[in-house]
Amino acid sequence: MKVHIVGGGPAGLYLAILLRQLDHKVEVWERNPQNNTFGWGVVFSDQTLASLQEPDPTTHRLMTQRMRTWENVDIIHRGVCTSVAGNRFSGIARIDLLAVLQGRCQELGVPIHYATDIRHIPPGADLVVGADGVASRLRQRFRQRFGTQLGLGSNRYIWYGTQAPFAGLTLTFRLDGDDLFMAHSYKYSQDLSTFIVEVDEATWRRLRYLGEARSRRRLEQVFAPELQGQPLLSNRSKWIRFVNVVNQHWYSGNVVLLGDALHTAHFSIGSGTKLAMEDSLALWQAFRTHSTVEQALPVFESGRRSGLDGFLAAAVTSQRWFEQARNHMHLDVLPFCYRVMTRSSRVDDTSLQRRDPAFVAAYQQWLRLNDTGQE
Ligand SMILES: Cc1cc2nc3c(=O)[nH]c(=O)nc-3n(C[C@H](O)[C@H](O)[C@H](O)COP(=O)(O)OP(=O)(O)OC[C@H]3O[C@@H](n4cnc5c(N)ncnc54)[C@H](O)[C@@H]3O)c2cc1C
Repeated sequence: MKVHIVGGGPAGLYLAILLRQLDHKVEVWERNPQNNTFGWGVVFSDQTLASLQEPDPTTHRLMTQRMRTWENVDIIHRGVCTSVAGNRFSGIARIDLLAVLQGRCQELGVPIHYATDIRHIPPGADLVVGADGVASRLRQRFRQRFGTQLGLGSNRYIWYGTQAPFAGLTLTFRLDGDDLFMAHSYKYSQDLSTFIVEVDEATWRRLRYLGEARSRRRLEQVFAPELQGQPLLSNRSKWIRFVNVVNQHWYSGNVVLLGDALHTAHFSIGSGTKLAMEDSLALWQAFRTHSTVEQALPVFESGRRSGLDGFLAAAVTSQRWFEQARNHMHLDVLPFCYRVMTRSSRVDDTSLQRRDPAFVAAYQQWLRLNDTGQE
């Protein structure tokens, strides 16, 4: 089978690696030059990493060698840091991940046409893959056929990096006058952490007049205790609203969507990169057991949908929670942390008890001592 993949991000490259090993003839087209990427660190759960091991042990080994692992979610509310254990995740620099995937493509003889912006589908393929990201041109072209729906989150957010040391995933909530700032930070290399700041609409209305450089300085002041004197590092960073992408149909004829082109999941629940690579895995699995495009694409869609829909719904619930976070800021530290941990349906009382019994015991004791009707 001849496969043309538009987009050399994690979804496109990982799919190329897997399909090449099923002896298909694969080519990738990437708009950017090689080594020209954006973003800081990306995260993977243990479960996702385990699922990547069998399909291509080499990629798995090269990725895990470059990862930092942590156990805790640290929640900072009212200046108090509460650690909740049992949340194991690993982070890797996006640039390192892409280098691993690009190198592996080269080893396997998959041509990547860099600096080539695809305007029309490259002709002559049995299968065309739209792995061209959240603003996918390929998806736009067949928008009616895919039944694409796009939505915008009400919060604004911006991706930075920092050399400030974070132990694990740290969620910092800070009221500064009437402004509410929320930071999602995690370590992904020896000396770098991702630092995403999210603000609600009311805060954004006051912040937007400052421009990027001055608003960055404002954030450095707001998060001074966490940043410990380290600056926020920009890499094409800009304030944006989260784009929710939903497609009613995942393929049309021999054209299939993957990764951010297909769906997005808010960064508060896990990274889009992990989902993008899991999509590739699911498509590869479909082609392992079904040799034709006509057979494999419906199998891909129905199989992957069942695992993904619940996850995407939880991502939306989590996104909405952050959009309404102001409503919870009056809570004491422990009930606030409990709300943060259980904000989506994915972590319930039972799983929280399994992850960190000491945290649950402390929260239950708080409930007994504070019969204030807060919870
Ligand atoms: C500014 C920004 C920063 C981000 N930083 C992080 C981060 O630090 N950590 C994290 O986990 N997630 C980050 N994300 C989210 C993350 O990028 C995605 O969830 C994830 O990369 C999805 O993988 P993908 O392969 O589906 O898409 P992408 O990684 O977006 O890859 C799509 C690729 O297609 C290429 N492309 C697009 N159009 C064309 C075309 N017409 N022709 C050829 N090539 C094309 C693009 O150049 C890109 O390389 C960030 C997103 C944005 C917008």
